[in-house]
Amino acid sequence: MLCCRGGGYCARCDLLVGLDGLRVSEVARDAGGALTVTVESEPAVMGCPTCGAVAHAHGRVVVRLVDAPAFGRPVRIRWVKRRWVCPDPDCPAGTFVEQNAAVASPRASLTVRACWWAIGQLRREHASVNGIRRQFGTGWRTVWAAIKPLLQAADGDPARFEGVTTLGVDEHIVRHEALLFRMEVRDLHRLAVAAAG
Ligand SMILES: [Zn+2]
Ligand SMILES: [Zn+2]
Repeated sequence: MLCCRGGGYCARCDLLVGLDGLRVSEVARDAGGALTVTVESEPAVMGCPTCGAVAHAHGRVVVRLVDAPAFGRPVRIRWVKRRWVCPDPDCPAGTFVEQNAAVASPRASLTVRACWWAIGQLRREHASVNGIRRQFGTGWRTVWAAIKPLLQAADGDPARFEGVTTLGVDEHIVRHEALLFRMEVRDLHRLAVAAAG
């Protein structure tokens, strides 16, 4: 479904989706109501990260990501990544795929903002992982695997929360998060036991 004559990039769609550095190329809604937003980076000259030579385009790689829900619907990002090849046969770089750490880490199944949206729901809205995965339209384990390392990092690094009292977040949040963490581990254990049984 294209909103612009000629099907080019659309500033309004980019603004709605808000993934800096990526342009919306298509939006679709599946039978279940989930939105799939196809995005790509604009064509640009790419340097080889190893030797700096101008890399040649080498096809595309499609990566699917769960994003935070929007307009009351689950959202999927279909990121059509650019793949490149270094023209120097002696360069160890070979082929490489574009990355954007602000959007998603390599091999992630959730966007960065979906992870932090989920954690915000846990921290501030008394949501459960089960409630979040319903809103994402995904599995419990997908959510948990994505946010667990972030919660663990926050739990194990009190410095992360130093000074946040001045921003209006008190240490109760940290304790609440640690409690949630233990509760979810117990849930996971129960699920594992149920699956095994
Ligand atoms: Zn548009
Ligand atoms: Zn190179």
